[in-house]
Amino acid sequence: MKRTLLKLFTLSALAVSGLFSTQANAAEPLSVVASFSILGDLVLVVGGDRVKVTTLAGPDADAHEFTPSPAHAKAVLGAKLFVVNGLSFEPWAQKLARSAGYKGETVVASKGVQPRQMAAEAGHAHAETDPHAWQNPLSVVQYVRNIAAGLAKVDPGGAAIYQTNAEAYAKQLKDFDAQAKAQFDAIAPAKRKVITSHDAFGYLAARYGITMLAPEGVSTDSEPSAKHVAQLIRQIKREKIKAVFVEAMSNPKLISQLSKDAGLNGGVTLYSDALSEASGPAPTYMKMMRHNLTQLVAGMQQN
Ligand SMILES: [Zn+2]
Repeated sequence: MKRTLLKLFTLSALAVSGLFSTQANAAEPLSVVASFSILGDLVLVVGGDRVKVTTLAGPDADAHEFTPSPAHAKAVLGAKLFVVNGLSFEPWAQKLARSAGYKGETVVASKGVQPRQMAAEAGHAHAETDPHAWQNPLSVVQYVRNIAAGLAKVDPGGAAIYQTNAEAYAKQLKDFDAQAKAQFDAIAPAKRKVITSHDAFGYLAARYGITMLAPEGVSTDSEPSAKHVAQLIRQIKREKIKAVFVEAMSNPKLISQLSKDAGLNGGVTLYSDALSEASGPAPTYMKMMRHNLTQLVAGMQQN
């Protein structure tokens, strides 16, 4: 009789302690801050329900020129991991971490990616590093591996899960790349030409043999001159460009002007530096890439 009681008691104590540890896990996911929306999505892909992600520059926000709020500083200070793109994309993010007194781990998601130089612009003596490496899906394989390694460092218990998630996603990225390559390869190189309002697709262009013509340089705040626009219109006619694309956050007025003056079909939105809101066409990185692929291929195939 005594033994049975003892056994029961032990079992229930175990059950209680098991319950507590489950609750502790569920109640305290790892707090991660990502500098902008695309990284926020990637962290969630790799971390799953073990992480709680706070994104600083959110959907449709310009992460080049972002002004963090005191609430953002507080989020960074409370984080176990801070994930940034690097390649000088978001200098405000590292500044924010410093001023907030953040002492935790930082992942530079683009680490190990072969950086591409942007063409030197008028007035610039030297070429600059292009920060938009995520526009090549094969680079994002490296991104998610870096994120998995960073998460494992602060949460070793989840290392196997993070690695599994990253590798499953890497396979999706490679499948998407093969599909995109086949679709662009089916279009004559002379038709693989695109005008965009912000020079953010260099990595995509390099990967799939697309010529990108931009009225602006890499910075989203510069206004092109009338002379530059006239020059571009001559170029559009000479190159027989059929479609122009407006980026979600950039200068739609300029592009509609170009469409009007050069008689183009235009005004379709591509997403480059930010995801859309959940109700939009690009609420995740994969959806963004599929959306852009569909729009680009359709635009190039116009007669
Ligand atoms: Zn950009």
